[in-house]
Amino acid sequence: MSQRCPKWDLNSVTILKPDGSYTSGCQLLNDAHLAPCPCCGKTMHRTKYLTKRERLTIPRADRATIDHVLPKSKYPHLAFTYSNLRAICQGCNSKRGNNTFHESEQLLTQMKKRLAAARAIFSQT
Ligand SMILES: [Zn+2]
Repeated sequence: MSQRCPKWDLNSVTILKPDGSYTSGCQLLNDAHLAPCPCCGKTMHRTKYLTKRERLTIPRADRATIDHVLPKSKYPHLAFTYSNLRAICQGCNSKRGNNTFHESEQLLTQMKKRLAAARAIFSQT
């Protein structure tokens, strides 16, 4: 029987960082604006920084979302642990579902392709 994760709003929860400072889910998303998604490499967007017109041009899948590296459905005690949170694009987050990263074949395949592409670039130099 699995435990249910509390339905707190991650954006407003204060999260303790390893260095003793604090952040919030909202700040994690703000920091991810225009950063590459760590899974697919696409540029992520924080819709709060976009105009209404810009928002219409950004696909939902490219929006920054907070991801639990270890899913909160299986690891509820890590739901608000800083080292278990990261910003990834909504497309990757929805593909991953409740699987851990290593359980998700689709994301693992993407990461292997990106690693192979990076190796090819560095082997040319
Ligand atoms: Zn992604």
